[in-house]
Amino acid sequence: MLEQPCRFIYYGDMADIKYYSTRDGKEPSSFSEAVVRGIAPDGGLYVPSEFPPIDITDPHLRALSYRQLAEHILSLFIPDFTAEELTACVKAAYDDKFRDQGIAPIHSCGEAHFIELHHGQTLAFKDMALSILPQFLTTAAKKLGIKDTIVILTATSGDTGKAALDGFADVEGVEIVVFYPTDGVSEVQKRQMTTQEGENTHVMGISGNFDDAQNGVKEIFGDEQLRELIAGRGYRFSSANSINPGRLLPQIVYYINGYLELLRRGELSPGDPVNVVVPTGNFGNILAAWYAGQMGLPVKKFICASNRNNVLTDFITTGRYDLNRDFSATISPSMDILISSNLERFLYELSGRNSQTVVALMQQLKERGFYEISADMKAKMNNFYGDYADDAQTVETIAELFREYGYLVDTHTAVGYRVYRHYVEKSGDHTPTLIASTASPFKFGRSVAEALGEETEGRSDFELIDLIAQIAGLKVPEPIRGIADRPVRHPDTCEKNAMKQVVEDLLQ
Ligand SMILES: *Cc1c(COP(=O)(O)O)cnc(C)c1O
Repeated sequence: MLEQPCRFIYYGDMADIKYYSTRDGKEPSSFSEAVVRGIAPDGGLYVPSEFPPIDITDPHLRALSYRQLAEHILSLFIPDFTAEELTACVKAAYDDKFRDQGIAPIHSCGEAHFIELHHGQTLAFKDMALSILPQFLTTAAKKLGIKDTIVILTATSGDTGKAALDGFADVEGVEIVVFYPTDGVSEVQKRQMTTQEGENTHVMGISGNFDDAQNGVKEIFGDEQLRELIAGRGYRFSSANSINPGRLLPQIVYYINGYLELLRRGELSPGDPVNVVVPTGNFGNILAAWYAGQMGLPVKKFICASNRNNVLTDFITTGRYDLNRDFSATISPSMDILISSNLERFLYELSGRNSQTVVALMQQLKERGFYEISADMKAKMNNFYGDYADDAQTVETIAELFREYGYLVDTHTAVGYRVYRHYVEKSGDHTPTLIASTASPFKFGRSVAEALGEETEGRSDFELIDLIAQIAGLKVPEPIRGIADRPVRHPDTCEKNAMKQVVEDLLQ
């Protein structure tokens, strides 16, 4: 396929899209400003002023490679980058770092079509956005004439951290700091982060869970004194978490590409509806699917799959978001989240873009630990379906999928498939379905080996990876081959309330 810049598909006037804060409907920013800041100064999240329409039935779209499609979709949302700049961003991001030419290939098991989002360097879907975010950021900083060193502060439940480290390692003008829950990530995830190379990389385990790490980072962002202090030293903060709008936009692309791929294979006719299943934590990936829907992807149901931390299941079912519950450490740790940041963007849309409503709901969440949305807002969510799977069901599902289709998935994807199967049983809805496959099974080797009936006691995660490869007849993906023998460069941990001090000390 020709890899030429794609500029031929225009649908009327291209809107000049700006970015609003969810907490203040007044002064919009350009994409460049929004991506450099990461989060709005008022604590809100940046959202696009509109969703540019695409015609999914247009045969031109079907002829595009992943990179061309990415360029096209991103150009609609990023009017302040030139065509050449966007071409360069996309080219640098989706190159041979991805082990599959299709970037996000589809694997079908009956009516379920898995979008494999784990062929990047860190074996999880975060690579899809974090391989292009550094390009966005450096391009935007140059455009805005920013001379300060940009400090990327990141909280991770395991996958964002490594993908961000990998994306930003040795990027000029950037320092990256990652906080992860010391006891809340898999052995492979931890080793991926602690062995990270690059002079500008900093990794710290914290005593606490992901919500603690995320809260700590948000507090640092909100600390004006600290901001001024480091500004005096030539630094400014930005974020690689999915609160950054630069994370969300690239995620829209693979849902549209997945649909186009089903058209190419004749699994769908142009305009046919699909369902979309997303194993969800921070609500970023499923929000990107919904954004694709707003642009014209014909999605019938958005199926939001959670693990035991099922705060979103309850929210979608009842309209009440309630944090007053126990946190569970599960075998799908990247979804062990109770405070789903990106839900704020969705609330903004559900409320008819009413920033006062958003501020009030966020205030209630902070003060009382819960909020309840109006009947009107809830009615707008009726194309969402939420359910969850516990650890036992997750393990069972990995075994079942491997037995029936010889297809091996990780624990997060298994949560998605389990919820999907249950949904089909209950509803009889056999609409073709795109399922976001968010990580490689090799990243969560212990649970996957257990699911396959192997003895895991006394074996390291690294041994289990080799075992799985043998059983499934697969090769251990190159990025984690020999990871057990790489030197640990970042052994440090800190108390969860010491995060601010760590950052201050680091930025001398
Ligand atoms: C981050 C992550 C998720 C959750 O995605 P959100 O955008 O936070 O909802 C699911 N699975 C894996 C493997 C992840 O790394």
